Amino acid sequence: MSDPLTLGTICRDWFGLRRLALRRRLGPEFDRLIALARDGEEVADSLAALLELPAATAPDPTRETYAALPGAFGHVANGAYVCPGGTCPREVVRGPAQGLPYCGVHGRDMQFSPAFGSGA
Ligand SMILES: [Zn+2]
Repeated sequence: MSDPLTLGTICRDWFGLRRLALRRRLGPEFDRLIALARDGEEVADSLAALLELPAATAPDPTRETYAALPGAFGHVANGAYVCPGGTCPREVVRGPAQGLPYCGVHGRDMQFSPAFGSGA
């Protein structure tokens, strides 16, 4: 969890971030910010301040995850999993042994979209 906080990393690391918030008795504040993120608000900076983590607005490191690992996924079909609410910039290409990626912001499994992850 050393990545700067963005909506994409909040989506991916939600579970760990929430645990951190609960440990510091900041659960209600954390949940309030997640609710705002669900409505499309930019909360990365507020959340970073709340949890005393580094913040960054761009670029989002989650976008580069699979481009930085050539061949790691073997043959990749066109398409990727995207945020079910359309608010997170995160895109996940699912590996063979991976379960459905989960969006922490919306509390739902991510949605498959054939338009993403095609090498653009
Ligand atoms: Zn998401």
